Amino acid sequence: MGGKNYYDILNVPKNADQSEIKKAYRTLTKKYHPDISKEENAEEKFKEINEAYSVLSDQQKRAQYDQFGHEAYTNASKGSYQGGGGYGGGFNADFGGFGDIFDSFFGGGRSARRGPQPGADLLMRIQVTLKDAVFGVDRDIEVMHNEPCSHCDGTGSENKKTKVCPRCGGSGQERRANNTPFGQFVSMTTCSMCNGSGRLPEERCTVCKGTGHERVKRTITVNIPAGIESGMRLRMEGYGEAGDPGAPNGDLFIEIQVIPDKKFTRVGDNLEMTVEISPAQAVIGTRILIRTIDDREVELKVPPGVQYNTALKIPGEGIRRRGRPGDLLVRTKIVIPKHLSGEEKDLYTKILDIEGHSKKEGSKGFFQDLKDKMK
Ligand SMILES: [Zn+2]
Ligand SMILES: [Zn+2]
Repeated sequence: MGGKNYYDILNVPKNADQSEIKKAYRTLTKKYHPDISKEENAEEKFKEINEAYSVLSDQQKRAQYDQFGHEAYTNASKGSYQGGGGYGGGFNADFGGFGDIFDSFFGGGRSARRGPQPGADLLMRIQVTLKDAVFGVDRDIEVMHNEPCSHCDGTGSENKKTKVCPRCGGSGQERRANNTPFGQFVSMTTCSMCNGSGRLPEERCTVCKGTGHERVKRTITVNIPAGIESGMRLRMEGYGEAGDPGAPNGDLFIEIQVIPDKKFTRVGDNLEMTVEISPAQAVIGTRILIRTIDDREVELKVPPGVQYNTALKIPGEGIRRRGRPGDLLVRTKIVIPKHLSGEEKDLYTKILDIEGHSKKEGSKGFFQDLKDKMK
């Protein structure tokens, strides 16, 4: 769809409110519904429209989408497999508490559905350094999840053959009659023998015991976009638990936790740090070298007369989000020396003289001076 974004697809302005988005969605789905539409590529358009609506109608997803832009957002949700079972190689060390999978995180409400069950969603938390959050990073993660059993191709059957379920005759639905004082009510429920699939294994698979699923450890590459903040979730479509045959997989949600940095603090799109300077540097002004978050040296001009905690700006060295990047604010901390050489002491004393604060001749001492002034 070449550079088209979700707002273009729904043909609404970027600041459209929820009712405008809903209205546009309704109009477009009527126009492009594959069953009735005579438009070219109606099915593809219909899919696009639904994808756009699923993001823009969800407040949290829309905020992330606006923040990261179309490309980063949609890339993050695609991901890619990197072969089976292996380790990512050297990545484990910075995971911290990696691998907290909260099983069946959204799975609860789904059991009420009829027919083959889609797989449950998974939630995983990963930690990233502030530097990775600033620039974005590709991260390999390991996920344990259900996949279709490789021994039986997900059929649950040792010989990969299935037979029609004898209870429901293949419909997946079971008739249940309830006798009540008002008469007999017949309701249709999911077949309890085949769980709605309509088919049963001919002989139960010895590996998966007929479930059609097996636990597999996978290494997945996650594209973490620049500017990500703690608590944000990335969605990896289809990387959750396997669904029943014919039903979609769940999604894997990755919640980001940014590890606080010793030197840099994030404030919006800016980074902040402090630098120590001497009283003389503060008075006369100076040039100092600052190490940026990606370990480059940048010269900072400290103007004469700088005060304590002044924020000096290094443009463009903050969060690298698309559009205008943030700045690095360097705060000055003026450190008073505790040990002076003889020469330094002479010079400070001379300044004291010039300022008229000298405690030499005629002075009765600091406290007496203070008392005199207060009279
Ligand atoms: Zn059945
Ligand atoms: Zn199996």
